[in-house]
Amino acid sequence: MRHLVLSGFMATGKTTLAPRVAARLGLPFIDVDAKIASAAGRTIAEIWSSEGEAAFRELEAKVASDWLRRPEPHVLAFGGGAVTTRGLRRLAHERACVVTLETPPEAILARLGDVSSRPALMGTDPLGRIAQLLQDRASAYAESHAQVKTDDLSFDGAVDAIVQAHRRDAVLVPLGTRSYTVDVVRGEPARLRQAIERLSPTRLVAVMDAVVERACGARFEAATLPLRAPVDRVALPAGEVHKTLASIEVIWSAAIGAGADRGSALLGFGGGVVGDLTGFAASTLFRGVRFVQSPTTLLAMVDAAIGGKTGFDLPAGKNLIGTISQPSAVVCDVAHLETLSSRERNAGLAEVVKIALLADAGLFERLVAEAEKIARGDLDSLLPIVRRAVELKARYVADDEHDHGIRTLLNLGHTVAHALEAHGGYSRVLHGEAVSMGMVVELAAAERLGLIDGAARAALEPLLERLGLPTRVSPSVLAGAWSYTAQDKKRAGGAIDWPLASKPGQARIVRVAADRLRDAILG
Ligand code: NAD
Repeated sequence: MRHLVLSGFMATGKTTLAPRVAARLGLPFIDVDAKIASAAGRTIAEIWSSEGEAAFRELEAKVASDWLRRPEPHVLAFGGGAVTTRGLRRLAHERACVVTLETPPEAILARLGDVSSRPALMGTDPLGRIAQLLQDRASAYAESHAQVKTDDLSFDGAVDAIVQAHRRDAVLVPLGTRSYTVDVVRGEPARLRQAIERLSPTRLVAVMDAVVERACGARFEAATLPLRAPVDRVALPAGEVHKTLASIEVIWSAAIGAGADRGSALLGFGGGVVGDLTGFAASTLFRGVRFVQSPTTLLAMVDAAIGGKTGFDLPAGKNLIGTISQPSAVVCDVAHLETLSSRERNAGLAEVVKIALLADAGLFERLVAEAEKIARGDLDSLLPIVRRAVELKARYVADDEHDHGIRTLLNLGHTVAHALEAHGGYSRVLHGEAVSMGMVVELAAAERLGLIDGAARAALEPLLERLGLPTRVSPSVLAGAWSYTAQDKKRAGGAIDWPLASKPGQARIVRVAADRLRDAILG
């Protein structure tokens, strides 16, 4: 169980609700402001007036971080401006479920009454100051697992809503006002329904492919039949060859024909192909409508559905047209994996291995320890692994939404993978299989260039093999495939930003000349 942080502006109900919420969850309650005051031996107002806001924020971040780092969970009531400190906010996202309490400025002022003890509201126009601070903090407050409007709800209703948010235990992708959550569950269609209902769409247009419609149709209906909004379905033919502008037109036309408006939402219910198409169609329909991703392949759960990259292929290459447009919610139900072929499932595992190799030695060890169970599709093993991979992907997206920096690391193995996929006409080799081979080939090339030693590859290769993934590419296939790298979007001038891992959990980006890379890869 994680900590629960109650955040939000002053007088939204944090310290009144927190003890009751703590009692319901059976957790101890900590008022962070009270801890700061007792540690400093002064009131918060005294610290502000003698040392200023910056010094107070530093002390606040230290005290709150110490509580967040404790292993045993607590209910923590944060001061109103605590989440404006980025480091503390990010720690809270990772270590806690953060619930922001919301109340309109007039109600806040009415509840506060006398504001003379509130240093942040000093001045002649407290209502204007409240409105201004709410605006300044909107982005930080939006980065939360749930928002609860305390003036719309009874006291018990607010307690219920907060407790439910904590039980949901979703992963946050913190992107200011474009933040969203990812639920990772097993056999819970209600989670998808709830995610859609939180958006209150006027209509839902669900996109799937014909294979997913057959395999997962019953779970789709269990999630969407009880919805209040009307639901329309668009079924596309399955496969990468249909990731085209023609499929986008089918989605646009179906949505418009069904009477969709700007309040409608699209649902991508399927693998990465359906997700990329749905995201692109949604980001362009009526200049942008909301969309939810419900990935049904492992690859889409741990990678494609998170991060907002949408698009389609052209004859000239894959993913050449697209947008970065974030979904409003993602719901990963690993029960969908029961009908997925073991080949497709294992291909998705390549992306899990990749992110573990890049960023989490602990996840890598877990994959090694449970490789056979994971390769068999054991959902008890897969559930925590999917969750962790989602957390890691969310972190990269939060740090670099537009893929100009650290997110480039996620392209580990992809220079060769894209070439192998293009060479095989996108049908002979699955993306994850290509990534598996690409990682091994690229690490071997980096060893030849003296950039890393053999530690990463020595750990990686046997794991990929135990997960049923290919690791070898013949020199002739590699040579034939290399000509397809010319269209790779990641090339800048004659150089490539090349992600490398030196051992599990340690990665960096190296800029190399394309010719040098080619010589090393073709060995
Ligand atoms: P996919 O969508 O083609 O799905 C693979 C196959 O599995 C399809 O035939 C599909 O019908 C079937 N399927 C899906 N779910 C099923 C289920 N539960 N049971 C039975 N069959 C099921 O392929 P994918 O591997 O999910 O995704 C690959 C695509 O994702 C590529 O187009 C790639 O470019 C894209 N991608 C996007 C991102 C991103 O950030 N947007 C990241 C990685 C990959």
